[in-house]
Amino acid sequence: MNYIEIDKNHLWHPYNSLPSKSPIWAVKKTKKSKIYLEDGTVLVDGMSSWWSAIHGYNNKKIYKALKTQAKIMPHIMFGGLTHKPASILAKKLVDLTQLNSVFLCDSGSVSVEVALKTAILYQKAKGREKYKFLALENSYHGDTLGAMSVCDPNNSMHSLYGDYLSENIFVKAPNLGIKADFDEALKDLEEKLIKHHKDIAGFILEPVVQGAGGMRIYNPEYLEKAKELCLKYDILTIFDEIATGFGHTGKMFAFNHTNIKPDILTIGKGLTGGTLTMAAMLTTKDISDVISSSSIGVLMHGPTFMANPLACSVANASIDLLLNSSWQKRVLKIEKYFKKKLEILKTSSLVKDVRCIGVIGVVELKDDTNAAKLQEFCVENKVWLRPFGKLFYSIVAYNIGKKELKKIINTMINAIEYLEKEK
Ligand SMILES: *Cc1c(COP(=O)(O)O)cnc(C)c1O
Repeated sequence: MNYIEIDKNHLWHPYNSLPSKSPIWAVKKTKKSKIYLEDGTVLVDGMSSWWSAIHGYNNKKIYKALKTQAKIMPHIMFGGLTHKPASILAKKLVDLTQLNSVFLCDSGSVSVEVALKTAILYQKAKGREKYKFLALENSYHGDTLGAMSVCDPNNSMHSLYGDYLSENIFVKAPNLGIKADFDEALKDLEEKLIKHHKDIAGFILEPVVQGAGGMRIYNPEYLEKAKELCLKYDILTIFDEIATGFGHTGKMFAFNHTNIKPDILTIGKGLTGGTLTMAAMLTTKDISDVISSSSIGVLMHGPTFMANPLACSVANASIDLLLNSSWQKRVLKIEKYFKKKLEILKTSSLVKDVRCIGVIGVVELKDDTNAAKLQEFCVENKVWLRPFGKLFYSIVAYNIGKKELKKIINTMINAIEYLEKEK
């Protein structure tokens, strides 16, 4: 069976045409921080499968959890029934986040949908008809319609769907830089709040790092000030930590860089260590109490595969792995190394900015014509990176070997040199 041919004829890939106009590489297997291609090439993984494979691939403890649970009960409906893996996971998430009420679902985008619906129901239960959301410029919150409606309208796919998308209100994102000032962004927020607060149910944002919308690192203090303003106007804060959660920024959650917590939190990606699809929405006890004791009474959402026992067991194993490791030390070490090595690219005429936090190393280019060339250069040099637009970046597993990390960083540096020569 020529599965490359079948792929070409029948399979959509993310954000792609059918058949794909760009190369698609066939993967045979994975191990730790390595990707083995069908053609025999072995790539060092610099993407951790879009922020998810935080322990690298094929972890033994995760495999064991999956196998054990598969024998006992791969799936059971969650309507009217419950099980141990879900309860254990809920308790772990509550302990980690200091929030109270957990909704388990299948993907990040769905958890964002549930978060938006929950915020609307909460406001309704409080007697307020509020159907709009605030979001940051450069935001990315997922690909389903509700999630898309809170993604940056200029930076995303809004224009394709016209009136079908709900209209929301966007505010200036805080300046780039973990210590940068954010006066302008805060001022814009206050102005929009004064004008629109009666319509706004919640403010959704990715704390500290805006991911797919620009890989932008900003000052955590902004979150504290923004929450203060939201409280004043009865607006819920919704932190989308689908990308940043589980240690990517050097803290368990990015909001742990602050002294506040959100009213609503979404998590996903790293939740199962990149093994199965699962996400969650968490809220304060106040939110679930207010909805449940109102005339609305219930949270109207219930996916078929809600709280899938396999995914719960794997998530439990992944969280245990993380908590029983010196992950924070490792992440900070990786951050230091990224910073030290990538710094050199700041002098390149092609590079606009270099920024790093936790296991995330970002090189922002001045123009966006080179992603495909960069990608091919990296594969030729046996490293898997997936640049998009102006962003050439790496997110690595916390237990990546020093040799592998060095290889990724050197390849990033060489790739920019290669582009310079090509020019
Ligand atoms: C990836 C991502 C999502 C969407 O998650 P999916 O699992 O791809 O649906 C939402 N928000 C943020 C911040 C993300 O990075």
